[in-house]
Amino acid sequence: MVVTRFAPSPTGYLHIGGLRTALFSWLWARRNGGKFVLRIEDTDQSRNNEAAAQAIVDAFEWIGLEHDGEILYQSQRMGVYQMYIDQLLQEGKAYKCYMSKEELDALREAQQARKERPRYDGRYRDFTGTPPEGVDPVIRIKAPTEGSITVYDGIKGEVTFNVDDILDDFIIARADGTPTYNFVVAVDDALMGINEVIRGDDHFSNTPKQLVVYEALGFKAPAFYHVPMIHNSEGKKLSKRDGATDVMEYKRLGYRPEALLNFLVRLGWSHGDQEIFSMEEMKKLFDPNTINKSASIYNTEKLDWLNAHYIKNLANDALAHELLPFGADLKAHDKKEILLDALKERAKTLVELAEMVKEVLTAPTAYDEKAFKKAVKPDSKAVLEAFAAKVEATPELHLPTDYHALMETVVSEMEIGFGKIGMPLRLALMGKLSGPGVDTIMASIGREETLARIAGLTA
Ligand code: GLU
Repeated sequence: MVVTRFAPSPTGYLHIGGLRTALFSWLWARRNGGKFVLRIEDTDQSRNNEAAAQAIVDAFEWIGLEHDGEILYQSQRMGVYQMYIDQLLQEGKAYKCYMSKEELDALREAQQARKERPRYDGRYRDFTGTPPEGVDPVIRIKAPTEGSITVYDGIKGEVTFNVDDILDDFIIARADGTPTYNFVVAVDDALMGINEVIRGDDHFSNTPKQLVVYEALGFKAPAFYHVPMIHNSEGKKLSKRDGATDVMEYKRLGYRPEALLNFLVRLGWSHGDQEIFSMEEMKKLFDPNTINKSASIYNTEKLDWLNAHYIKNLANDALAHELLPFGADLKAHDKKEILLDALKERAKTLVELAEMVKEVLTAPTAYDEKAFKKAVKPDSKAVLEAFAAKVEATPELHLPTDYHALMETVVSEMEIGFGKIGMPLRLALMGKLSGPGVDTIMASIGREETLARIAGLTA
C-alpha cells in the first residue's frame, strides 16, 4: 500500500509551495487507494508555535485535503527519538561529541583557510577517555567516510553523491538533547510506514544524510520524489512580493479551493494539454513519476481564469452561501437565480462577485457626473416615465424578458432608439453606466424597487 505524508514545520502559515507538495502526496495516496498522513514537525521549540500548527490544520480543512488517522506532532514523540538515539549509541553507530564551541570555531577557521568545505573531523568518533568538564555533548552519527551514496529519485533519476564531498558525522541530537531534523524525519517516515516521500527540491541535499540514518537503524528507505520549485515570472523563487503565498490569503481574496488545487496540480505536472481537472480526474491521473524536471512558473492570470471557471459552474444556492462571508447576503433573496446567473459569468473571484451583487442590490445614492451627462437627454424624463407607467400597469413581471418586452413597447410607441431608454434607465438603476443588462437588474431587484429607482432620477 502506498503511504505518503506531508510534514510541515510550523514556522508560519501554510505556503502554497507546501500545499502543492501536500496535494501531490495526497493525490498519489488516493490514486493508489493508500494513505496520506499529516505530521507536524515541531521539534524545534524555539521556532515553532501552536498558532502556526493550527494555521496549517485550518488551511487543510479549508482546502479539503483530508488526512488519514490522527495528526502526528513530533514534539509529543521525543521519547521515541530518544529510544533510537540510545540504540545507536549502544550499538556504537553514534557517539557523544564533546567538542567545545571554541574548538569548533577553530576547526572551521582552519578549514576555511585551506579552502575546504566545513565538516566535522571525527575527533570524538573513537574517544574513550574521560569527557571534558562543562561541555554538554552532542550526539553524532557515524557516517560512511568513503565511497558513495546513491539517491533514487522518481523525478531526477539516479543521483550519486561522493561521500567525501557531502558527509561528515552529523549531529542527530543537540547538546540540549533535542533530536535534529534529518534524524527524526527518517525515524518517523520509517515508523509510520511512509514508502513514498514527495517533497520540495530544497530537501534533496538532505536525502543522503537521511539514508545514513535509515541504514544505521536498519530501516528500509522510501522512494523519493523531489519536486522542483515554483518560480515567479522572472524565474526567481516565489516570494511574498509576488502576491499571496499564505494559502489562507487565497480564501480571503475569494478563490475557491478547487480552483487553487487545479491551479497547483498544473504547476509542474501535466496531462496532455488539459487545463481543467476535477478532483476525481486528478485522483485518477496524477503520477509523481511524470512531474517536470524544471521549475514551474506561477501565473496569476491562469489562477484567475480557473477561479472564474469554478465560480461559473457553482450552483446558485452554493454560490449564495459562499458569498456570505464577503458581505453579500442573498439567502432570502427570491431572485438570486437571475442575478447570479448573470453576474457569475463576469467574476474572477468571490470578492468581485460579492461587490457586483451588492452594487445591484443597493439603490444608488448619487449619479456619476460623466455618466449623467452622457445618458440624460431632454426627453429622458418622459421616456422613463412612460416606461414606469408600463411597469405599474403590468403586475406580473418576473423575468428579464418581461422587462425587456416593456422596454421594446416604449421604444416603438415613442419611435426612439433603444439607447434613449437603455442609458437613462441604467443610470437610474445603478448610478453609473456599467453593470449587467438593465433587464437583468430590474428582474433581480423586482418591480417596486425598479419603480423607486426610476423615481429617484425623474423626481
Ligand atoms: N519539515 C520539513 C519542512 O517543512 C519537511 C520535511 C520533509 O518533507 O521531509 O520543510
